[in-house]
Amino acid sequence: NPVQKRKPAWIRVKAPTSPVYQETRKIMRDHSLHTVCEEAACPNIGECWSKRHATMMILGSVCTRACAFCNVATGKPDLLDPHEPENVAQSVAKLGLSHVVITSVDRDDLPDGGAGHFAETILRIRRASPGTTVEVLTPDFLRKKDALEVVVGAKPDVFNHNLETVPRFYTEVRPGARYFASLRLLQQVKELDPSMFTKSGIMVGLGEGREEVLQLMDDLRSAEVDFMTIGQYLQPTPKHHAVDRFVEPSEFEAYARFGYAKGFLMVASSPLTRSSYFAGDDFRRLREA
Ligand code: SF4
Ligand code: SF4
Repeated sequence: NPVQKRKPAWIRVKAPTSPVYQETRKIMRDHSLHTVCEEAACPNIGECWSKRHATMMILGSVCTRACAFCNVATGKPDLLDPHEPENVAQSVAKLGLSHVVITSVDRDDLPDGGAGHFAETILRIRRASPGTTVEVLTPDFLRKKDALEVVVGAKPDVFNHNLETVPRFYTEVRPGARYFASLRLLQQVKELDPSMFTKSGIMVGLGEGREEVLQLMDDLRSAEVDFMTIGQYLQPTPKHHAVDRFVEPSEFEAYARFGYAKGFLMVASSPLTRSSYFAGDDFRRLREA
């Protein structure tokens, strides 16, 4: 029975206090809006909400996959809510978000994997909130023909899809997904629309070696991925995959340096980095450059 490893000091987070954070929280309460930020008790909420960045989940709350690191429920998924794209767009507008990340559970049960719903949501956000930049964090659309074209065709500002971990751990940690299929998905986004920013992320602390992470970075660069996120894996409940170790802040900094040397435009690498962390302000600057 493995002993739960104690969290090091650098994992602890300050309580959020800024006025914009408080205002965002009030709007959330008043309109019963839901964000991944709150539901996943994300450690970056103070910082993200202060910048008016938030993440919203579409396509229901039940996933058809069961990744070993993820706390989302697995089972028979919810019926699709046809009003969801408009409701999400209205929430984004009410919150006055500068950047929104739209993500979802995996919907292997739907013929298009939920691609149409993603596209509709982007379209509605553009209409209701033209100043907001939109990032999608999508499933892998494995065996869903033409799904990717539908999402890319709706022109999100950033297309994010996570590799999550090094290929050696896929069977154990990300069953149902295929490393090279995810990589190919990212490459195809660039082929379909070379002007679209692409992004991917991993969790470390699952037992991967440094050489494996550096190889994964090369793989992402060979698929022309622009942005990368690297964060510490934290075990959501004792039933989930165990933490192998807490990666030191200096190692995260070294990964960021390697990432920039390999040609990524942006690398967010720190213990508390999450996949939907950063993008808005930084990438707007890049786009204008
Ligand atoms: Fe929300 Fe993502 Fe920021 Fe966490 S990192 S607070 S989930 S936008
Ligand atoms: Fe969680 Fe995504 Fe895996 Fe579903 S596919 S279990 S939502 S990580």
